[in-house]
Amino acid sequence: MAEAFTIHDYAARIAAFLDRHPRALVLTGAGLSTASGIPDYRDRDGARRGKPPIHGPDFRKSDAVQRRYWARSMIGWPVLAQARPNHGHRAIAGLEQLARIGSVLTQNVDGLHGQAGSHGVLELHGNIHTVMCLDCSAVFPRAFVQGQLEEFNPQMAGADATPLPDGDASVEPAALADFRLPYCTCCGGTLMPNVVFFGDNVPPARAAIALAQMERADALLVVGSSLMVYSGFRFCRMAHAAGKPIAAINLGRTRADDLLDIKIEETAERVLPLALELLTKGSEHTGRDTPSIPLDGGIL
Ligand SMILES: [Zn+2]
Repeated sequence: MAEAFTIHDYAARIAAFLDRHPRALVLTGAGLSTASGIPDYRDRDGARRGKPPIHGPDFRKSDAVQRRYWARSMIGWPVLAQARPNHGHRAIAGLEQLARIGSVLTQNVDGLHGQAGSHGVLELHGNIHTVMCLDCSAVFPRAFVQGQLEEFNPQMAGADATPLPDGDASVEPAALADFRLPYCTCCGGTLMPNVVFFGDNVPPARAAIALAQMERADALLVVGSSLMVYSGFRFCRMAHAAGKPIAAINLGRTRADDLLDIKIEETAERVLPLALELLTKGSEHTGRDTPSIPLDGGIL
């Protein structure tokens, strides 16, 4: 008969891992945000679901691809804009304030770590709530561009669509023919969301910062990522090559399963708040410095 582990056992394993490795780099992915109502791209076997994604090089050279993207985004983004951090995001912010983790690196573009109170999270793939001009590099809030989209395309109002993690959504092709694109109000140029699309690379300067953070870390904790995208998987390879232990909290298979020292098949929003609680108590018992941790507006 298989041993039955409880959620408390899992939390204790993660707490012990973080206790042994106080500078663990935390790498988060889409699985962390599913409890905030943002659907994951991948199923439990790591396979991609739904329609193929829009590729960055196609977006830049094709008006038709831009219309497809912005029409779907016009419907999908407002859902993303309403998403709020869950207990997993808040626990990570709490661990940071307790100085129980090193840097936080996310593959998510939803901005929920910042909303949860984490500071200095490196958003590897950018942030869906900002938009950049491809011609003059001006940056706009996505909410401003939403105003343009709705003003230019009243025919789309009320369109129903299923949101996807990058603010994308399904829209009928018939609605695209007369769709008007948003544009840069500084130079009239082409706007693109400030995120790394499929087929594009993480900007080199940002990738260099992330790699330096992995070098400084003493371990790696993966949260809610199947690591199928190489920009995430590379941190596991780096950690493994340097002999740094790797733990993962993820429902389902990850690309790095062979490299993991600890694998917890659970959700972050269930495991991490309990691990934070254990570490908070542990800090009290050992007389370690315990700064106040505002969680849910309160002070622990
Ligand atoms: Zn411009």
